[in-house]
Amino acid sequence: MASLPPVVVGNTSKLNPEVKKLPSPSVPFEKKNYSTKESDRAFASLSLEFREAFSLIGGGDRKIESSSYVPLLQECIDTNSVSGVESIHGHIVKAGFCQELFLMTFLVNTYAKCGMMESARRLFDSLPKRNVVTWTSLMSGYVHNSRPESAISVFKEMLDVGGYPTNYTLGIVLNACSSLFDIELGKQIHGYIVKYDIEYDASIGNALCSLYSKCRSLDMAINAFQRIEEKNVISWTAVISACGENGNSAMGLDVFVQMLAEGVQPNEVTLTSVLSICCTMQALDMGTQVHSLSIKIGCGSDLAVTNSIMYLYLKNGCISEAKKLFDGITTISLVTWNAMIAGHAEMTSLAEDGLSAYFYGIEALKIFQRLNRSGLRPDLYTFSSVLTVCSSLVALEQGEQVHAQTLKTGFLSDVVVGTALVNMYNKCGSINRASKAFVEMSTRTLISWTSMINAFAQHGLAQQALQLFEDMRFVGVRPNKITFVGVLSACSQAGMIDQALAYYDMMINEYKINPVMDHYACLVDMFVRLGQIYEAFDFIKKTDLVPNEFIWSILIAGSRSQGKLELGFYAAEQLLELKPKDSETYFLLLNMYLSAGRWKDVSRVRKMMRDEKVDKITDWSWISIRNKVYTFKPGSKKNQASEVAKILEDLHDRARRLGYQVETNMAIVDEEKEEATALPADHSEKLAVAFGLLNTSNEAQIRVIKSISMCRDCHNFIKVVSILTSRTIIIRDSKRLHKFFNGQCSCGDFGGLV
Ligand SMILES: [Zn+2]
Ligand SMILES: [Zn+2]
Repeated sequence: MASLPPVVVGNTSKLNPEVKKLPSPSVPFEKKNYSTKESDRAFASLSLEFREAFSLIGGGDRKIESSSYVPLLQECIDTNSVSGVESIHGHIVKAGFCQELFLMTFLVNTYAKCGMMESARRLFDSLPKRNVVTWTSLMSGYVHNSRPESAISVFKEMLDVGGYPTNYTLGIVLNACSSLFDIELGKQIHGYIVKYDIEYDASIGNALCSLYSKCRSLDMAINAFQRIEEKNVISWTAVISACGENGNSAMGLDVFVQMLAEGVQPNEVTLTSVLSICCTMQALDMGTQVHSLSIKIGCGSDLAVTNSIMYLYLKNGCISEAKKLFDGITTISLVTWNAMIAGHAEMTSLAEDGLSAYFYGIEALKIFQRLNRSGLRPDLYTFSSVLTVCSSLVALEQGEQVHAQTLKTGFLSDVVVGTALVNMYNKCGSINRASKAFVEMSTRTLISWTSMINAFAQHGLAQQALQLFEDMRFVGVRPNKITFVGVLSACSQAGMIDQALAYYDMMINEYKINPVMDHYACLVDMFVRLGQIYEAFDFIKKTDLVPNEFIWSILIAGSRSQGKLELGFYAAEQLLELKPKDSETYFLLLNMYLSAGRWKDVSRVRKMMRDEKVDKITDWSWISIRNKVYTFKPGSKKNQASEVAKILEDLHDRARRLGYQVETNMAIVDEEKEEATALPADHSEKLAVAFGLLNTSNEAQIRVIKSISMCRDCHNFIKVVSILTSRTIIIRDSKRLHKFFNGQCSCGDFGGLV
């Protein structure tokens, strides 16, 4: 530190008038006269090599040159050292180099790169002369510091004083136009570029390509790319991204292939763009090849590339591959944690069967726990994903913990999180908590209102749903078609035909919303619930509706329960023409024909099932107790001998005394035998409920998830069990949530019951 040269520290603006009066560089620096506390501190923050280098300037009797400052300023840029720049600036002033345009320009650039645009501008204004590099440095600074509008006004100033932009300057202005989405100004600049015939220049072409891409003009972007004479990796990357961002993913991949064919090696940015295109296109094969390529060219450990590959795997349901990459990342950003949690959350709805869906959900919760331990703070995206997972797992306890955490971290007031909470409580069968969470929301959006209306409707609370709908209209929120699904399904469950039709009219005439299949389904469902099966068919005819699978299933279920078998068979034939995707539907049809003894139809349906590759339906139920998952298959021997069997038998006996009768004809058909096998007594949810009764405290709710729809017999039985045990029993089957309490079910004893 002994050789530290003197510097002037502080506000550079004070220096301007004195600049020329300062001593010439040949004056030796005085060793004793340097130190203010500020410069000490500033100096101490610099690296050792830097301090050494700095001390060498003017050390001893050597004359210093202005260029000696350049590496020091570069170090300030590299270390983003604000105090360093100020120290050096002071030094330069004292040393009398303020006339050196090259050095002063570099100083403007350094201030800008360190984010100090005010200082950069002040210095710029104080300069006695400027060249195009000085102007461009200032403009580029504004662009990099997210102030594109200032960059453009500097550009205009420059033109006003007769400055002549270089290619690089024009590139910067085009970038500023991109950030502002200002295609008009961009086109003016483009005109200028055409006039001076510099479209072929790569930096210009790249900037034009990005500008047009950002402004949603893919053709112009491609044009700009094609005019570049010597396309570099940035040009290729720009046009690939342009295709991806403007909805032409396939072309993006083609261009990428062409780029490789021309021998241009992609960089991290190219790979990230291509992987994002693969993600959009769900092009897993291509993505896997890009993954290998990235390893081959040494980008395998690049964080952005790794993240992109991970998203691709997540998006395509390759969870274990994604997990492998995830576990290999050393510094996991919140975005990556969120992607991983959201990826698992999404799998809970995409998984092939309920059981694996359940395990994806559990895995998502585990990752969330790891995130909490990592010290990073979850944000609203994390919370809303985790709450979705809790909903699909019917994991009320975990949901409550997340609720408490959102309260602590201040995210509870966020409308997205609030809405996710409403949904979570609703799907976990706790309508009171859902409504409380809704009331506590500080702001409500259309989505939150709609969620709550649908929640009331799903719980069979028609009056509350309709009241809330009126409240929503009263505060001036305009309902959308999903809101009306809630309203119509509330009316349908309560059997309120007149109101339903009135709301249906309101939707079409007042809100100009065209009805969609879900609205028709609500109304058909309503007629069927009221036993008005012919009215349901009439309604379909009147509205020129072409029913979908779901509507035909409602009609079939309705026709069957009212013994209108011919109508049922008619609906069944219509449904078969649609080639239903749902294996449960095939089994429903098979059951219908079997119980009517229509063997020709039975074998026809069987053949269709083979053709459509419909698997056997697997009746699974599972229950989670103290974070451990227990699964049950119908009538498994293990359970027969256990306490579960005993308690079930006891419940059956007591249920019969309360008037419960077994309905055997509702059994699920086994592929091998021509008759209904598995006795309803053995259906998996009964076993799971019995297990829950045995292993939880007396007041606890029982929450079971089932892979297929409940049958009518189990539905009746569980209703009685809810009386016998005074417990709330929640069963989420593949179609809906059933909340049994005191002999009633929230579904109103209707809906897809086979
Ligand atoms: Zn059953
Ligand atoms: Zn029910």
